[in-house]
Parts: sequence; structure tokens; C-alpha cells
Amino acid sequence: MENCIFCKIASGEIPAATLYEDDQFRVILDLGPASKGHALILPKKHYANLYEIPDETAGAAMVLAKKVGTAMKEALGCAGLNVVQNNGEAAGQTVFHFHMHLIPRYEKDQVGLSWTPGTLTDEVKEEVLDKVKKILG
Ligand code: 5GP
Ligand code: ZN
Repeated sequence: MENCIFCKIASGEIPAATLYEDDQFRVILDLGPASKGHALILPKKHYANLYEIPDETAGAAMVLAKKVGTAMKEALGCAGLNVVQNNGEAAGQTVFHFHMHLIPRYEKDQVGLSWTPGTLTDEVKEEVLDKVKKILG
């Protein structure tokens, strides 16, 4: 992908604060961090989102999230960790190269990742179960 900023960062063409790198991934610090240590896991190959990523890469990304998240807990003493992954503009995705956010959390920090809980009605429950299960099999 010629004009993808994360392709350029993942390949090393554009420098970034790199926490970790292997054949498949580069883990960098986010330039606009939600909290101290906010990092992004970038696959080196370009996939726009979760729908496009191969199963093997998806699995490896989560294993890497565990590894880096565990190191952050020890090194930064964070009290919690959010693993966030946005798909599509409606979900807040702004860079269309798959990435996972690792957001260390600290007591009384100002990170806002919450929503107002609704109510699961019987009608919606039945509709969702019916429609999605049909596809999942
Ligand atoms: P999204 O909203 O797509 O889930 O997340 C994109 C993230 O990438 C944002 O948190 C933003 O701060 C970060 N970001 C965007 N451009 C750059 C960049 O050039 N370098 C780094 N390190 N982070 C970036
Ligand atoms: Zn890309």
C-alpha cells in the first residue's frame, strides 16, 4: 500500500518509537497517547481491518498483546490494560491498516472508553441470535 502511513512505519521507512519488532510485527508508541505507554501493534503486511486479516496473524497479534501488555504491567506499574481494536470509521478507525491499541490504565486516569449500557430486549436478542447464528453455523 503506497500511501499507508502504518506500512511505512512497520517497514521502517518512517521512524517510530519501537518497543518490539519481529518478522511479522512492529510495536510502536502512539503519537497521540491516551495514557503513558499507549502502544500500537502493527502487522508488517497491509490489511485494512479485522475482516481482512488472516486467522494466523490475528492469533499472533493477540499473543503479542499478552507479551507486551505483561511487560508494560511490570515496567510501568499500570493498574490495568485495555486492548482496543477499531474497525471502520463508525468505530473510530482513522488509520486503515489493522492495528491493536494497548492502553495502560492508571488509577483515576482520564481515559474515556466507556459507554452507556442499554437494555437487551427479547426482540433484539432473538433478532441478533437468529441472524448471526445463521451465518456462523
Ligand atoms: P485508530 O483511531 O485508527 O484506531 O488509531 C490510530 C492511532 O494511530 C491513533 O491513536 C493515532 O494517535 C495514531 N497515529 C496516527 N498517526 C500516527 C503516526 O504517524 N505515528 C504514530 N506513532 N501513531 C500515529
Ligand atoms: Zn498499510
